[in-house]
Formats: sequence, C-alpha cells, structure tokens
Amino acid sequence: MVKNKSAVITGSSSGIGLGIAEGFAKAGINVMMNGIEPAEQVEADRARLESYGVKALYSRANMMKPEEVRGLISEATEAFGTVDILVNNAGIQFVAPIDEFPEDKWDAIISLNLTSAFHTTKAVLPGMKAAGWGRIINIASAHGLVASPFKSAYVSAKHGILGMTKTVALEVAEQNITVNAICPGYVLTPLVEKQIPDTAKARGITEEEVKRDVLLAAQPTKKFVTVEQLADTALFLCSDGAASTTGVALPVEGGWTAH
Ligand code: NAD
Repeated sequence: MVKNKSAVITGSSSGIGLGIAEGFAKAGINVMMNGIEPAEQVEADRARLESYGVKALYSRANMMKPEEVRGLISEATEAFGTVDILVNNAGIQFVAPIDEFPEDKWDAIISLNLTSAFHTTKAVLPGMKAAGWGRIINIASAHGLVASPFKSAYVSAKHGILGMTKTVALEVAEQNITVNAICPGYVLTPLVEKQIPDTAKARGITEEEVKRDVLLAAQPTKKFVTVEQLADTALFLCSDGAASTTGVALPVEGGWTAH
C-alpha cells in the first residue's frame, strides 16, 4: 500500500513532475515538490495537492548543486520522517546540431538530467535501507532507448540514466528497494512546447508541421502521452504488485520504440 508513504519528486512544479505529484497526492502519498520557480508561483498547485489530505511542501533546491540536493532530501526526511519514494524527474532540453552545440548547454543537460539523479539516489538510499522499503523511479525518455538528431546531450543523458537504473537496481535488489525508469514519448509540457520553434527553424518547416510530422510521426498512436498516464505508471511501480519489477526501462510512448 502506498497510502501514508512520502515522496520526493524533483522538477515537480510543472509538466510531468507536477502530474506525478498530483497522482501521488490523490493516492495518499505526502509529496515534497521541487523546481526553480518562486514559491508564490507554485502555491496554488501545492495547496491543491494538500486538499487531497496529504502534506505537500515545495523546495526551490537547485538539482544542479549537490549540497542543495542533499538539503532537499534532509528537509523531506525531517518533514515526513522517511523518504520512501524518489522520482528523479527534473530535466531540460536543448536542440542543435552537435558541431554547433554550446558547451555550457551540454554540461547543464548532463548535470541536471543525469548527475542530479546520482546525488539524490546517494542521499536517499541510507534511509530506504534503514526502513527496509523503497522505490526509485527515474523519468528517462524514449530518447533513453533510441536517438533523434540534434539532441546529443539529452539522448546521452537519457541513455546514461538507464545504465544507472540497472546498476542501482542490482545493488539494492535484496533490500525491498526497486529502481526503475519510465521512458515517456512526447508529452505536451513546457519542455516540448519550447523546442517546437527551434525544431521548426532547424528543419525549415512550420510549428504545426513539427507537431504532426516530427513529434507525433514517431508515435504510432498519433497522440501525445498524458501526465495522468505517467502518474498511473509511477503509482504502479510503487505498488506491492511491482515488487519484482526492478531495473527495467518501461516505455510509455504510444508504440514509438516498437518500430
Ligand atoms: P517541464 O519543463 O514542464 O518541467 C521541468 C521541471 O524541472 C520544472 O519543475 C522545473 O522547475 C524543473 N527544473 C528545471 N531546472 C531545475 C533545476 N536546476 N533544479 C530543480 N528543478 C529544475 O518538463 P517536463 O516535460 O515535465 O519534463 C520532465 C522530465 O520528463 C524531464 O526529465 C524530461 O526529460 C522528461 N521527459 C519529457 C518528455 C516530454 O515530452 N515532455 C518526454 C520524455 C521525457
């Protein structure tokens, strides 16, 4: 049962992370939200999560700074007693051919989309081991399984996090801690909306054509994945029924990687 458990979800002030936070709160899980937005901007969402009868807190800790990552896990442990569930979700994107790819963008994407999950996992595992139960869910991407042009840093980070998922799953397999990755296809969140104009420019087509011919062309269902579907998948991975599911990369991408 997940009711009364507590979760830290990185990058949960927006998009997929917020959708997972909402699904968790509805299931009775206390939630530590996190993001770079000022608290005032997130307050309405935080209060809505608490209206489901759980504790919901918000931290602006920067997941690119290891001390702030450790601070986030300590703050959640102090507030809730334990961190039973960790969702590594914070992520950014940048789209450019590799020979024009800015070095600072490469470093930022590897730092947030991959290295931050190393620091959160390292900080959270001692508590999970002491409690004898834990769930770690890494939000990877279909781009953890296959590539697309112009996304070298993102594809590298997402392939990397699948390697970390399998490694940590093996390390903690005997301690009732599972470690899995979800590989979403395209979800219409700010992260995707922001890359549509750049992709249109890089390919010389309209924004509508990017949605139809580039993004949804990859997804046989021809539909964007929803944050509610991802919240349900994350809840399944937290359930007792998923106790033997560990080290997997679970695609939720409308059949994209079946091609
Ligand atoms: P989003 O832009 O809507 O949200 C990103 C979140 O990360 C926000 O809460 C933001 O505040 C937070 N964030 C950014 N920088 C941060 C930092 N330095 N420290 C802490 N938090 C930070 O993005 P999204 O589309 O919801 O993406 C969430 C995750 O899902 C990412 O890892 C992304 O790669 C992955 N993903 C998204 C899609 C998609 O189509 N949207 C598909 C596959 C995978």
